[in-house]
Amino acid sequence: MILRSDPAKIAENFHCLGPAPVPSFLLDGERPVMFEAGIYLYGQHYYDQLVHILGERRPEYLLLTHVHFDHCGAAGYLKRMMPGLAIGTSIEGSEIVKKQSAIDLITRLNRFGKDDVPAFEPFTVDRVLEDGDEIRVSPGLTVRVIRTPGHTRDMTTYYIPELKAMIPSESVGVPGRDDYIMSEFLIDYDVYMNSLRRLAEYEVDILLISHGVYYTGPDARAYIPRSIDATGRFREWVERLLREYDGDHEAVLRAIKRDEYDVLEGEKQPEPAYLLNLKAKIGAVQRRMTAKMVGCGLNGA
Ligand SMILES: [Zn+2]
Repeated sequence: MILRSDPAKIAENFHCLGPAPVPSFLLDGERPVMFEAGIYLYGQHYYDQLVHILGERRPEYLLLTHVHFDHCGAAGYLKRMMPGLAIGTSIEGSEIVKKQSAIDLITRLNRFGKDDVPAFEPFTVDRVLEDGDEIRVSPGLTVRVIRTPGHTRDMTTYYIPELKAMIPSESVGVPGRDDYIMSEFLIDYDVYMNSLRRLAEYEVDILLISHGVYYTGPDARAYIPRSIDATGRFREWVERLLREYDGDHEAVLRAIKRDEYDVLEGEKQPEPAYLLNLKAKIGAVQRRMTAKMVGCGLNGA
């Protein structure tokens, strides 16, 4: 079902488009900027709300944090609806979206189990973004690019200094049940932690997390340090289970899924995507353990 609720206002000129679990964001100004392209299913929803806010005007950029299926799903659709829109992301992201295997995966995950529905429109990247790049929205309103790999290689965070607003996507964890934060280091634990520590140095009043709520004020400021703690605890948990199950990744996968995913209620990440990510995280912890053992000379190699 496509929701038709009014877009939510985050701040003056800053809006959340689409449903909170898979949102897109719009920063209005002389040259409006859109962030994130959610899933294909909500393409028209994002577009309609955008038109409702901008009238005849259109955004100059669509900035993607990374090209996972639920962050770039509607990018091609939005580009088709707004041919003047420039899609911006990292060099790695620009390469990934050219690959047929990536297009196939993004399409499959955007189908949500339905075979015969349009589920993705491939796109190309118009502007490659580097760490430190700045995009001017209006005089006194800019978007700063912070490269934050670790969740994926192509990960990018956007920061709006004038609003102290940050769009880190899964560079910070995803809120789970109660106070739990799901850490998201799919590629490399230490690289992810370094990115988190970098983000912790920014002043944040508005923190837009991609899958659900956003935080303001003290909650926003507390979230990144909490994510750092949660990531460390999750790594220790996986290490403990890997030892307990003698390196059996499948057994570790089942144990974590039971306590982390099965307990979640309501709308949640599709299970295939969750399992794919969890597998990657267990692999990342395993590689780190093995590297440390080699480093200590314990591996006999
Ligand atoms: Zn992701």
